[in-house]
Amino acid sequence: MKLTLTEKLINSSLVEGNLERGTRIGIKPDQALMHDLNAMMTYLALEALDLDKIKIDLAVQYIDHNMIQADFKNDDDHRYIQDITSKLGITTARPGSGICHQLHLEHWGVPGKSLIGGDSHTVAAGGIGMLSIGVGGFDSAMVLAGETFYFTMPKIVKVELDGKLPPFVSAKNIILEVLRRIGVKGGIGKILEYTGSGVKTLNVAERSTITNMGQETGATTSVFPSDENTRKWLRAYGREKDYTPISADKDATYDEVIKINLSELEPLIALPHLPENVVPVSEVAGTKIDQVMIGSCTNTALNDVLSVANILDGNTVHKDVDAGLYPSTRTVIREAMARGAFDKIAASGFRLFEAVCGGCNGNGFAPKTDGVSLRTTPRNFYGRTGTKSAKVYLCSPEVAAASALTGVITDPRTLNVSPVEYELPEKFIDDYNIFIEPSSSPEDIVIRRGPNIKPVPEMKPMENILSGVTLLKLDNDVTTDHICPAGANFLPIRSNIPELSKYGFNVVDESFPERAKKSGGGFIVAGSNYGQGSSREQAAMVPRYLGVKAVIAKSFARLHLANMSNWGILPLTFVNEDDYNKISKDDVLSIDVSSLVEGKIYSLINETSNVTIKVSSPVSQDELEYVKAGGRINLVKEKISK
Ligand code: SF4
Repeated sequence: MKLTLTEKLINSSLVEGNLERGTRIGIKPDQALMHDLNAMMTYLALEALDLDKIKIDLAVQYIDHNMIQADFKNDDDHRYIQDITSKLGITTARPGSGICHQLHLEHWGVPGKSLIGGDSHTVAAGGIGMLSIGVGGFDSAMVLAGETFYFTMPKIVKVELDGKLPPFVSAKNIILEVLRRIGVKGGIGKILEYTGSGVKTLNVAERSTITNMGQETGATTSVFPSDENTRKWLRAYGREKDYTPISADKDATYDEVIKINLSELEPLIALPHLPENVVPVSEVAGTKIDQVMIGSCTNTALNDVLSVANILDGNTVHKDVDAGLYPSTRTVIREAMARGAFDKIAASGFRLFEAVCGGCNGNGFAPKTDGVSLRTTPRNFYGRTGTKSAKVYLCSPEVAAASALTGVITDPRTLNVSPVEYELPEKFIDDYNIFIEPSSSPEDIVIRRGPNIKPVPEMKPMENILSGVTLLKLDNDVTTDHICPAGANFLPIRSNIPELSKYGFNVVDESFPERAKKSGGGFIVAGSNYGQGSSREQAAMVPRYLGVKAVIAKSFARLHLANMSNWGILPLTFVNEDDYNKISKDDVLSIDVSSLVEGKIYSLINETSNVTIKVSSPVSQDELEYVKAGGRINLVKEKISK
């Protein structure tokens, strides 16, 4: 049988099920990665479960998300993480060494292997030919504990790239084009597999820009083949031994096909507030801007930084623009310094930040009130930068650099600049000393924790009859940033659910936490794609802590759906989507869930209007058992204690 690349990758790790689309399958991943923000819950859960050693071949911890040390909280988290990873047998990068996905690609990514990461953009590793899937902190904990990772076998979409990108049209525009065509829901239940003659024109970092932001389509993951360019990449990082060629069989069958001619692409830009709002830059050229941020795991590999330096060389940032660059890793910093690129960028008036997520998740460099910010990040969700009134546009580094110079959104092809051809170095500067090996005497490690680090809250099993008020009636595409705010004020309290819960849904309705507590919890009603965006499970834990019993939506985003089940919130979907209109905010609802069975139709009663609505749960029987137990942690604890 002819196999796609995706099918080959899945087969390599498959331990349960088969390749039949839509069925539940289980894999044993080869690698895991975690970052400081989500890993706090990973390790707190592992402590609650008494795990003393990880049960996976390779796990790497990064410290890149919560880097502002305005007080003790973030640094206490970093110290706790360094202690516990050393004890559990996990390799850890020093704080600030680089953004997890790019560091992993540089130092640990291996074609043909599988990777589960506690972050939605783990899918970046698809650029090196890995099967890489993002999960929440609790699912990461389960992978570290050696448990099978389950997901629904997706459809496989062939994305055929032909031609070659024109000058000043870089890889970001390919994924923006995909988003323009299929939107933020178009990848749900699918894997995007890139093929075609255009693939060989892209290096691994460019491929990773595409797979990384493929997350914004809702896809389970995206993959590129491993080929001669992959070998060159591994060789440049001193890892040629890790190279394996892997690609789809000729004549493999796909569920869907998308064709993109790279030669015809032009600079694109996503308008506020969703990555799918993509138009040609020429349509909004001339729009005044206040801020430019070049950075994130999507877009600050060495080729991006050199391209930006070329545009900025000898020019000055516009007086009305505050421009800054976050390089993706320490290797990128050192290479850019060695080539004089940082000097050109700094001389133009750009600010140079450390190699971390930074402004991407609202941890620094927030825009001013009502500010227009041009960013190379993967997301422009409402409020994500920390400034609710900001308008964020997503674009390539070339568009961002050109616009920083002119003060308005600018197509870089209109500037009088010659393009540079990027050649991957034969050998990158060796930077392995950013990693710290786990302790050889883990029993001697005493784990230090600061006062802000609180244990995972106790969660009671679910009641047989759920009843309560409709606390919120929400629209489509509610993001995890809506549910649990991002920004430098909130990220440091991610390991303190009681404190964080005071801000649940604040972006939508500041009275939500108070009302939820007063009414003893209740329901949330939403449109389609509820929970899109990040893998952070606090977006499930906070509503759960406040007493939310079930979310009834037209549909859910994959990662958040898993997090809801893990933390004991019942996800329900309308059998008839129009019934969404039969519930209003403050309506009292009730539902008998004494028998939770996969695929079962339940009667949800709107007691205020006396209407019965048919709903069902989109999760598996196993996940329903997690919900019933009040959260998966309760079940695993029970299993371990037997
Ligand atoms: Fe960090 Fe932003 Fe990438 Fe998330 S999307 S890993 S916050 S750089």
